[in-house]
Amino acid sequence: MSTFQAPKGTYDLLPPVSATYLAVREAIAAPLRSSGYGYVETPGFENVELFARGVGESTDIVSKEMYAFETKGGDRLALRPEGTASVLRAALEASLHKAGNLPVKLWYSGSYYRYERPQKGRYRHFSQVGAEAIGAEDPALDAELIILADQAYRSLGLRNFRILLNSLGDRECRPVYREALQGFLRGLDLDEDTRRRIEINPLRVLDDKRKDVQAQLVGAPLLRDHLCEACKAYHQEVRELLTAAGVAFEDDERLVRGLDYYTRTTFEFVHDGLGAQSAVGGGGRYDGLSEMIGGPALPSVGWALGVDRTVLALEAEGVTLDVPAATDVFAVAVGEDAKRRLFGLVTQLRKAGVATDMAYGGKSMKAGMKAANRSGARYALVAGERDLADGVVQLKDMETGEQEPVALDAVVTTLRDRTA
Ligand code: AMP
Repeated sequence: MSTFQAPKGTYDLLPPVSATYLAVREAIAAPLRSSGYGYVETPGFENVELFARGVGESTDIVSKEMYAFETKGGDRLALRPEGTASVLRAALEASLHKAGNLPVKLWYSGSYYRYERPQKGRYRHFSQVGAEAIGAEDPALDAELIILADQAYRSLGLRNFRILLNSLGDRECRPVYREALQGFLRGLDLDEDTRRRIEINPLRVLDDKRKDVQAQLVGAPLLRDHLCEACKAYHQEVRELLTAAGVAFEDDERLVRGLDYYTRTTFEFVHDGLGAQSAVGGGGRYDGLSEMIGGPALPSVGWALGVDRTVLALEAEGVTLDVPAATDVFAVAVGEDAKRRLFGLVTQLRKAGVATDMAYGGKSMKAGMKAANRSGARYALVAGERDLADGVVQLKDMETGEQEPVALDAVVTTLRDRTA
């Protein structure tokens, strides 16, 4: 072991498990790609102010968990704790919203950083795939995103997840509700910190996981009863579209989520096999965010699904993804000349699109075949001096054990046909 270890709250993705992570990212991205979402990539860090304003100064994410630092040049930056603010910033900066084709639909995949107390499913460096639909207020768009996430999870074979759905109202009805909630909360027996939260971000108190707090929250006014007509109709339409699509959801009047920017539709995907960190993904509408970061009014909706927790959810359900072997062919040479010739063949095979690897490091025949076995390749290509003198290599089918000589100049076409 080296002197160094991965920093606390982080872990390395290594083969073979890392293949599952890639497959999860792919599976989440696939339905987005085929639904009009274009790929976007933004820097791993941003001006700290973007998150302070965009995510919200009073959120845990910004106030406690952000990796913020000052550069040698005096810039105040932060490692990104989430994706939405950056993606919207990038879209605004490039004026994508002015191209006359709203909504702007984007998807992303990357690393995010939060200085959290590490535990299973909660890391300081984690991975998300996300989607944002910017610049349109349309319940069908909210429904589309939820349906695509549902499709992604199902395509992976996940079954034991639930979709929690709520509406957080808009700038009309939320302030009225906020006041009613504050009135109720001020009358409860709560600690200092929570009392402060009542004044800054009362909706977050509903999200408090402590039993004694939850017990007092019974009878708290619900946003559902305060929604304005427009929000009610919007939410009803989202619900009906989901139902028509056969996507089951649960109404959860307490769902508020940890970021300030959400309005109207809010949702979370929870998995019942994950214990405390049960949210595998979440998102919602953020109609006011663009203005909060200095842009025009651009009603938008999006989600982010956690790759790490999705992998844990797969494990919890006992689902193993059918990740195909990385290579189809594995070459084993005996002797220097054979090695050189086989290396040439391997290069040709790769150029022809046949996934090929070979034994390196002057291995013996036995060790070479062991490596071929371990690689999971269907075919082994074996050659010694005598084979080459005969102008052939031995092609071994690793599944059946059958072996046959193949003329050197027929190897590429033969293998291309067999692995097609
Ligand atoms: P959030 O922006 O907090 O709603 O996060 C969206 C998703 O990202 C969550 O549902 C998790 O799957 C994942 N996620 C958020 N924070 C972490 C973390 N610290 N470690 C692992 N996954 C996380």
